[in-house]
Amino acid sequence: MKPAIADGHVVTIHYRLTLDDGSIADDSFGGDPLVYLQGAQNIVPGLERQLKGRQVGETLEVTVPAAEGYGEYDPAAEQTVPKTAFPPNVDLQVGMSFQTKGRNGQPMPVWIRSLKDDQVIVTANHPMAGQQLNFKIEVVDVRRATNDEKKHGHVHGPGGHHH
Ligand code: ZN
Repeated sequence: MKPAIADGHVVTIHYRLTLDDGSIADDSFGGDPLVYLQGAQNIVPGLERQLKGRQVGETLEVTVPAAEGYGEYDPAAEQTVPKTAFPPNVDLQVGMSFQTKGRNGQPMPVWIRSLKDDQVIVTANHPMAGQQLNFKIEVVDVRRATNDEKKHGHVHGPGGHHH
């Protein structure tokens, strides 16, 4: 028998993510499933918490409030920067993400919210910040992680990192 989902296990799931307006933001059914390491913050905290203890073969509906998903929307997390601050060979588009440095030098993703003339409005809010996330989940597989996977904090092999 496969173990139940617990920290330090590699978990394979199919998922469909529906937002409150009914739009489907992401759907793995019919494609490749998601493989992640439980307890390593590979997925949003509210989903990770509610998957704990689940068994292979279970299907479930999981509702994750914004605070446990991609965070509440913070209007203060917007900034206007000149287009010249971006690489000249990139065709800037709304929704594109870039890696920048936070206040303490840590890597921080930002997204382009809008473009105006030679100005770019970027935001540190994830595009799904402020949204409740409604998941349909099917637990496909659970196995114990290898020591290397635990050390790295991510999955190796199919659906994971290759290095
Ligand atoms: Zn690794």
